[in-house]
Amino acid sequence: MASYKQVCIFCNALIEPDSRFCIKCGRRNPFAVLCPSCLRVVSMEDTLCSGCGRPLVIPCPKCGEQTFVLDQCQVCGASLMVPCTNKRCGEQVFFQNSHCRACGKKVGK
Ligand SMILES: [Zn+2]
Ligand SMILES: [Zn+2]
Ligand SMILES: [Zn+2]
Ligand SMILES: [Zn+2]
Repeated sequence: MASYKQVCIFCNALIEPDSRFCIKCGRRNPFAVLCPSCLRVVSMEDTLCSGCGRPLVIPCPKCGEQTFVLDQCQVCGASLMVPCTNKRCGEQVFFQNSHCRACGKKVGK
């Protein structure tokens, strides 16, 4: 069955439209940038999420430069995701989030 491929917003590779990961660059959610707090689709031009109001441009915890809230810092490439502390969950959680979205466990310091 033919399916129309879609373009990864990170590396422009053509990948299957139901991909959860880009098979070329390995980024999650390759077709849209999602707010890490409320999962709303946001634009890289926005500075605040229109759904929950959280800032979408934050200082990187590694290099201190401003980066969009992606899985990785746009400047130094450091991962902005931390694994959920629930070992059976294993979901990656945005480092500023206080709870895992998948299992609801409190994460972070
Ligand atoms: Zn990609
Ligand atoms: Zn939001
Ligand atoms: Zn950085
Ligand atoms: Zn979890």
